[in-house]
Amino acid sequence: MTRSISLLGATGSIGDSTLALIRSQPDLWRVVALTANCSAEKLARLAREFGAEIAVVGDEGCLDELREHLAGSGIEAAGGAEALCAAAARPADITVAAIVGCAGLAPTMAAIEQGKTVALANKEALVSAGEVMTAKVAAHGTTLLPVDSEHNAIFQCLQGNDLADVRWITLTASGGPLRTRTLAELDAVTPAQAVAHPNWDMGAKISVDSATMFNKGLEFIEAHHLFPVGLDRLRIVVHPQSVIHSMVEYRDGSTLAQLGPSDMRVPIASTLAWPARMDTACKPLDLTSIGELSFFAPDEERFPATRLAREAVHAGGGAPAVLNAANEVAVAAFLAGQIRFTQISAIVAHTLDSYTPPAPRSLDDVLAIDARARARAAAMLEHA
Ligand code: NAD
Ligand code: MG
Repeated sequence: MTRSISLLGATGSIGDSTLALIRSQPDLWRVVALTANCSAEKLARLAREFGAEIAVVGDEGCLDELREHLAGSGIEAAGGAEALCAAAARPADITVAAIVGCAGLAPTMAAIEQGKTVALANKEALVSAGEVMTAKVAAHGTTLLPVDSEHNAIFQCLQGNDLADVRWITLTASGGPLRTRTLAELDAVTPAQAVAHPNWDMGAKISVDSATMFNKGLEFIEAHHLFPVGLDRLRIVVHPQSVIHSMVEYRDGSTLAQLGPSDMRVPIASTLAWPARMDTACKPLDLTSIGELSFFAPDEERFPATRLAREAVHAGGGAPAVLNAANEVAVAAFLAGQIRFTQISAIVAHTLDSYTPPAPRSLDDVLAIDARARARAAAMLEHA
């Protein structure tokens, strides 16, 4: 029996990995919607290859180019923020939410409203919306499967167990490419150095987040919403080899961990096949060639991001959405050469200090907080 699938953010790194898996089982899948921001040529090529029903660019200015590339294919083309949501709302057995940033929130919510299965890579959407998203998932009886490797690992380690028996959930962090740099060295880091991740090949934004440790900060908040064991039961440990993707310790002293290669096809495959398993072409884990696994406590002096995220989620209200929005603005400014690496966390901290909105109660509330926090962070760039 074929299954239908939509892929939001089809042209990115998670999009590539997901489509590689679908390509390996062509008879099993029927592609409904593929979306991108503006990579019209690549999007059209993928839509043709996979026989998608519709291809959508978020940036309406790229729609003409998309139409040209799809001419004669019979595939529908659309553009703009509303078209993204409309495509995400089309019936599909599974939707992979892999847009980067809060830009993916509204389409992800539209997919959740269908009440089928959403495989979530877009962590910024869950961090910003928090309970607004988890309440929507509950209200529509949607199955939310985590794609993020750590959360996918935790999800697997929790199967057959009771959340009430969890003593600790430990998120592992590679520490990123700058793990051993001094503060003075961090100040001089270039965008090229920050995106050169030792273990994972990812989009630019998450690569910078990995270098600042904001990725782990966002993941801490993501874990809090996906696995509500209480904030005092969540912790982070630095594990540079990225072999253990996360672990769960139970009250009897047993710790379950999920291990695997640093290849996003593994967690994505587990969501596509869930609750069954599927083959992947990933290189098997070779523990003897890895030799040793090491673990360190995070250094929040050099990398304040995990502390800022913990404080934001403890503060509650709209603070996580503010943290996420400020980080998105600061990362874009860093990638554009406007600010130094260490100014990213400073801008996030200042934005959090200057704006403490109440808890959002709807998607519109979240988007309003996101927009205001972006404006504040952008104003701070002027003085940075
Ligand atoms: P990417 O930059 O490679 O791809 C992002 C995708 O989103 C592209 O298809 C792009 O066209 C689309 N997009 C970007 N801005 C958009 C906008 N404003 N409107 C509509 N579409 C837009 O990013 P990625 O590395 O694939 O990451 C995607 C998400 O998955 C992020 O939230 C990231 O944190 C998460 N994630 C990624 C990895 C990884 O290994 N890459 C691992 C875990 C989680
Ligand atoms: Mg991750």
